[in-house]
Amino acid sequence: MTELRYLPDADDVTAFEATVEEATEEYIILDGTYFYPEGGGQPPDHGTIEWDGGSAEIDDVWKDHGDVRHGIASMDGDLPAAGTTVEGIVDEQRRRNLSRMHTAQHVVSRVVLDEYEATTAGNQVYADRSRIDFEPASFDNEDLDRIESLSNAAIESDHAVVKEQRPREQVEANVDEGRALLGMIPDHVDPLRVVAIEEFDMCPCGGTHADSLGELGEVTILDCTSKGEDIDRIEFTLSGVE
Ligand SMILES: [Zn+2]
Repeated sequence: MTELRYLPDADDVTAFEATVEEATEEYIILDGTYFYPEGGGQPPDHGTIEWDGGSAEIDDVWKDHGDVRHGIASMDGDLPAAGTTVEGIVDEQRRRNLSRMHTAQHVVSRVVLDEYEATTAGNQVYADRSRIDFEPASFDNEDLDRIESLSNAAIESDHAVVKEQRPREQVEANVDEGRALLGMIPDHVDPLRVVAIEEFDMCPCGGTHADSLGELGEVTILDCTSKGEDIDRIEFTLSGVE
C-alpha cells in the first residue's frame, strides 16, 4: 500500500525521500510517493528515482491495487533492494503545468455550469492543452468568447485554492448539483479530498492543483466540436505552457 503523500495539499512538493518496497525491471514501488499516478483525467508525473549506486528515469506512474508503480523508462546501476532509501524527484515544470491546467479545468467547468447549466461529462488535461466535454451543450462562437472571458475574469480575481479532506456527508450536503459525480466515488471513500476555490467553486477531486487562481495565466479556447447529440467538447490552453 503506497501512501499518497501529495494528498491532501502537498501538491507543490517535488523532491522527497522514501523506502523501496519492491523493484523490478519494469517498475518501483515505494512506501510513499509524491508522484501523481494517472487518473481522474490527469496524466502521470515524470521524473527520476535515485539511490546509492543507481537511478531510474520514470515516465509512467499508475495505481495497482493500492500500490503506486513508478514505471522505469531507463535505468543506471543495479535495481535497489527492498528497504533501500531513495530520493524521488518529480519533473517540476511538467507537474506545474498539469496542476495549472487541472485548476483551469475547474474554472471553465464552473463558468459553464453557472452560465449554461451544462455539466462536465468528462475531461482530460495535458501539460500543453486540455479538453472538457459538456452536457447538454451546443455552444456558438459568442458563447465561447463569453466562457473564455468569464474564465479569465475569475482567474484575475486570484481566489485561493484550498485542498483538504472533508467528511463525505458534508461534501454531499454542500456540493452544487452538476459539480460532482458522487455516485462514481465508492461509498467507503470518506473523508473526500475536495478542491475549493474560495467564493467560486467546490468539488471532490484527487488531482494536483495550483494554490491560487493567479498562478494560472490566461485561458484561450482553441476549439469546440460536437461529440454527439447534446455534448460539446471545448479544448483550451493556458499562457506559459509549452
Ligand atoms: Zn481537480
